[in-house]
Amino acid sequence: MPQSIEISTVGGWAACRGGGQASSRYGKIEDLVVGLKAVLPDGRMLEIAPLPRRSVGPSLRDLMVGSEGTLGIITELTLRIWKKPEIERGVVLAFPSLDAAWASARRIMQAELRPTIARIYDAVESAERTEGLDVFRAAPILAILVFSGSEPMVSAEQDMALAICAEEGGKIAPDGPFHHWKANRYVAYSQKWQAAGYFNDTIEVTGNWSAIPAMYAAMGAAAREIFPGIHFGAHWSHIYPEGACQYMTLRLPPMEQAEALPLHARLWEAVEGLTLDHGGSIAHHHGVGVFRNPWLARELGAGLDVLQAIKDTLDPGNLMNPGKLGLRPAASAVDVRHD
Ligand SMILES: Cc1cc2nc3c(=O)[nH]c(=O)nc-3n(C[C@H](O)[C@H](O)[C@H](O)COP(=O)(O)OP(=O)(O)OC[C@H]3O[C@@H](n4cnc5c(N)ncnc54)[C@H](O)[C@@H]3O)c2cc1C
Repeated sequence: MPQSIEISTVGGWAACRGGGQASSRYGKIEDLVVGLKAVLPDGRMLEIAPLPRRSVGPSLRDLMVGSEGTLGIITELTLRIWKKPEIERGVVLAFPSLDAAWASARRIMQAELRPTIARIYDAVESAERTEGLDVFRAAPILAILVFSGSEPMVSAEQDMALAICAEEGGKIAPDGPFHHWKANRYVAYSQKWQAAGYFNDTIEVTGNWSAIPAMYAAMGAAAREIFPGIHFGAHWSHIYPEGACQYMTLRLPPMEQAEALPLHARLWEAVEGLTLDHGGSIAHHHGVGVFRNPWLARELGAGLDVLQAIKDTLDPGNLMNPGKLGLRPAASAVDVRHD
């Protein structure tokens, strides 16, 4: 389930191509939707019957999953469900470096192991979660792995994954950070900082394993150049054989809004620009809305023209969420960011 479970809808998860916390095993929402119904802009129903696979042209299901309300309103979803796991085991690891933790995650996924949860925290976010735990003095990078399923499967996956971690220098650590994560996994921290006057935001992007080290380093450096006292922390919590989601928290201290908003805009420009420079995707699971419009043409190239052509055909009056997803705004729209 997404962290936003209490404030979001199933339709919204599908419309934004969201991702739950156990995506490393079960996939994102696009991997869970097997069928759907949607009302098209002209009032007709688009019905995609729930079937395991088909070979009848491009996936219309995928056209709707992620369309952010621009092509129709999703009224019904059929989701793949899984049996409740018999057991679950959480393991906390301390790694000597981020490189070692990333290498472990990459090797685990490429070995076809599927931990239910896999989380790697950078030094900033690790320090916040490991205070008083001696093992993290020499190995400051925190990782949490959770395995679930039947006992023999969990034991086999856990043994193989931990052998990989040990080869990369990972050490088993006390399991407090796992229990803390589990107890707080649906708690949003932004409000706490915002209530105290801070400007707190999160940005999630996708990168391939080969690009992540340089991408992460460049983003941290850029953020500190824009505002030297910034809090910049990151974790990687949706991992795949090819790469991972890099989820960053950027926080400016209390200041006048007129000073903070231009800094906020520069930070987004830097992070999204560097994502594209490193061959990544500007959004892993939060979608585009209107805020990410400036970078969509660079990411999708001719693909954005394809989307616009589909939009123009299905919704010639530009009635449904005009201006979202990088598509043409309503004629009367004003871009308030430049006012
Ligand atoms: C604290 C916090 C934590 C979050 N954690 C996560 C997380 O763990 N994982 C994650 O993926 N996201 C997360 N998000 C982002 C967000 O909650 C999700 O992307 C969620 O999927 C959006 O769903 P919603 O129902 O809130 O959609 P809304 O915000 O109401 O709508 C989003 C867009 O989808 C369109 N839309 C909504 N419903 C439909 C529908 N039925 N048919 C067509 N279009 C529709 C809307 O028009 C709008 O353009 C988080 C957000 C917050 C604030």
